[in-house]
Amino acid sequence: MWVIDIRHWLNEEQDGPAVPRLKNKVAKITEIISYATSELNGLKTASAPKCWRKPKRKPCKGILDAWVSDMDEICWECPVCGDEGVVRGWNGLIWDMLDVENDITH
Ligand SMILES: [Zn+2]
Repeated sequence: MWVIDIRHWLNEEQDGPAVPRLKNKVAKITEIISYATSELNGLKTASAPKCWRKPKRKPCKGILDAWVSDMDEICWECPVCGDEGVVRGWNGLIWDMLDVENDITH
């Protein structure tokens, strides 16, 4: 189980990775943040993020379950390989879709 405070991985502006080697990880985690917060807000979401694990060096084909917990943490779980994690520190970042107006109902 991973527990990640995404802010530790971000640059000072908090809109990108702190260092280049974190680029892929930040892209993946922020995709999960956008997905989970969009769903909670009732926004139309892109397809769910794919698993990025490579058990035994083969890419996992799982589609991640991602949701916002009662504790205000974003959790994800891969139904195929069982990878799971928790993301903290996502509130108010540019990937947080909770304060985005829901245009679909207008
Ligand atoms: Zn997986």
